Order: sequence, then C-alpha cells, then structure tokens
Amino acid sequence: AGLDGACEEPVPRTLTRQVMVGGVPMGGGAPVAVQSMTNTPTQDARATLAQIAELADAGCEIVRVAVPHEDALDGFGEVCAESPLPVVADIHFDHRLAIGAAERGASALRINPGNIGATDKVDAVIDAAGSARIPIRIGVNAGSLDPDIDAREDLSQPEKLVQSAVSFVEHFRERGFEDIVVSAKTHSVPSTIRTNRELSRVLPTVPLHLGVTEAGGLRAGTIKNACALSVLLSEGIGDTVRVSLTAPPVEEPPVAWQILQALGLRRRTPELVSCPTCGRCQVDLIGLASEVEERLKDVRAPISVAVMGCVVNGPGEARGADIGVAGGRGQGLLFAHGEKLGSVPENQIVDALMREIEERFPNR
Ligand code: SF4
Repeated sequence: AGLDGACEEPVPRTLTRQVMVGGVPMGGGAPVAVQSMTNTPTQDARATLAQIAELADAGCEIVRVAVPHEDALDGFGEVCAESPLPVVADIHFDHRLAIGAAERGASALRINPGNIGATDKVDAVIDAAGSARIPIRIGVNAGSLDPDIDAREDLSQPEKLVQSAVSFVEHFRERGFEDIVVSAKTHSVPSTIRTNRELSRVLPTVPLHLGVTEAGGLRAGTIKNACALSVLLSEGIGDTVRVSLTAPPVEEPPVAWQILQALGLRRRTPELVSCPTCGRCQVDLIGLASEVEERLKDVRAPISVAVMGCVVNGPGEARGADIGVAGGRGQGLLFAHGEKLGSVPENQIVDALMREIEERFPNR
C-alpha cells in the first residue's frame, strides 16, 4: 500500500456525496481524512501556525481553528493564508464570525446551527459559505442540543442528536446548499455508535465526521475513540475522523492513524509487530521493542517491522514482515523481506534493524 493507499481488502465505504475541504476530498469514496484542532489563541497567528506545522507533521490533514471572538478574525485570516493544511473555522453563537471567517479564507465552516440563533442568521452563514464555495459541517453535540429537542422525554440521546442534525440538513437543502458534512458527538461510545449508524441510514449521502468528544486523556480517550470508530468505520460509516483527547493536540493524529491502520483502511507509518513475551524469551524484548517503537516514530514508510522474543513464533513473524528480528539467547536473527540476513548480538539489534530500514527505505 502507498502512503495514502488503502490496504488489500478495504472495508467498503458508504458512498456519500463528496465535498472538498481545500484540496482534501471528503466522502464519495475518498480516504478517511484525519483532522485535529489547534488550542493556541487564534489571534496569535504565529503560535497557531507553528502548532499547525506540528500537526501536519503528525499526520493531520485538515485542521480546525476556533474563532471565538472578533479579535481572532485577523489572526484567522493570516493562519488561512499561510497554513499548509486546509483550515476549518469553528464558530459558536455569533453568525458574524462565521461570515467573517468565510471571507478571510476558511476552507470550511463548522457551526452548530442550534446556537447560532434565529433562522435568518443561519441563512446568512449558509449564503456566505455558498459565496465562498466552501462546505459547512453541521456539528451537533450532546452537550449543546437545541433546548426544545433536549426537553423531549420521549427521545433517547441518539434520537435527539439525529433529529437535530436531520432538521438542520433539511433546512440547508431547502436553501439550496448541499456541501454539508454532519457530526453528532457525545462522550458515550454506545451513543456515538447508535447515533452515527442512524445518521448514516437516514442521511446516506451526507459525509459523516466521526469522533468521541470529551473522551478523556491520552489512554482513556484513545480507547473510547478506538472502540467507537472501529465499529463505525468497519461498517463503512464515516468519511473523516477527529480523535479528541485532553492532551496536546499533536497526540491526536497518530491515534487516528493507528485506528485507520489497525482497520486496514489507510497506512502511513510502520506497523510494529511485537510479541507479549513469556518465559521462553531470552532477550530484553520489552526494552528492544520500546526502543524500536521510539526510533520508528520518524519513519514515514508504511512497512511492517517485527520484533519477536524467541524461535516459537519469532522466525515466522519476522520472515513475514518487511524487516524483522527473532530473539535467541542474547542475540537476534535478522530478516528482511522473508530472507535471513544473519545474527547480531543483543546490544546491536536495534541499530542493525534501523540500518536495514534506512538502507531499504531511503525515501522516508
Ligand atoms: Fe513467548 Fe516466543 Fe511467543 Fe514471544 S514469540 S510470546 S517469547 S513464545
């Protein structure tokens, strides 16, 4: 598979109507796009651009930037002009900010129409996006549902989210605006799954942005997002993902990529195949695997690297990987593309492995 290529047996995707976010296609069979969001003050364009550069390096393909007040608009314009990634303006409450962001070069807008206010204000945003020829993500959230829908005791949370999103989509369509993406987020995994399954059923052509919001820190948030996204993506649902973590934003894209890679949807970086170790292991495999994992962080080739503890499964996995090592008593047997290269002492295993990767995959 190439950097952006699907693996051998891609999961069939629900064929939504493709929209373009800057140069990144979303939906309509395009690769599932990885998003994140900056947390710098937007008026500080330099700091925001520096964070966007970090995010791009970490695999982010579309970046969202908050525009919380008028003072942020000029900085936002500067960010759009210089960002290497398409920039989505995240707007709440004030429709004038959404119009200002569209005029200053946003590649898309994200609004929750429920908190923009009267219909004419929502319509003004729709028209501004139409003039700028950019899509709008309708982002509904369990924490900020329309009060009338939220008060309905006869509806479950997924039903409230779906009903809310569908009514907004209908309104946008009535106004002749079709470049829509929808997200419906909650912190609950079961609710996220039920909501997006239903959205995909009732709005089959609308690209869906997936993610578990307010998911917690790096470990808890990774697990919650992986649980929800893997179910949905495996059913062909979802066109773009944002893994929300209470952690530095740069932590988010690698988690999203690992989910996509684990599902066989996309590959970008090496896959480490390493055994859990057991009483047969005669090398410090946990130490070796951690060091290899750390040194692979800069490698961009979508290769498989096996680091195995002994001769039981080791040679098989090491031979099957692009590059691999099977541990023995204080040494390792190196393999590349299924071919045995020879033994190296334990303290040279990582260097030898990395040397092979550098020589065989020089354009990393
Ligand atoms: Fe144990 Fe060997 Fe399997 Fe690793 S590869 S878990 S050391 S049997």
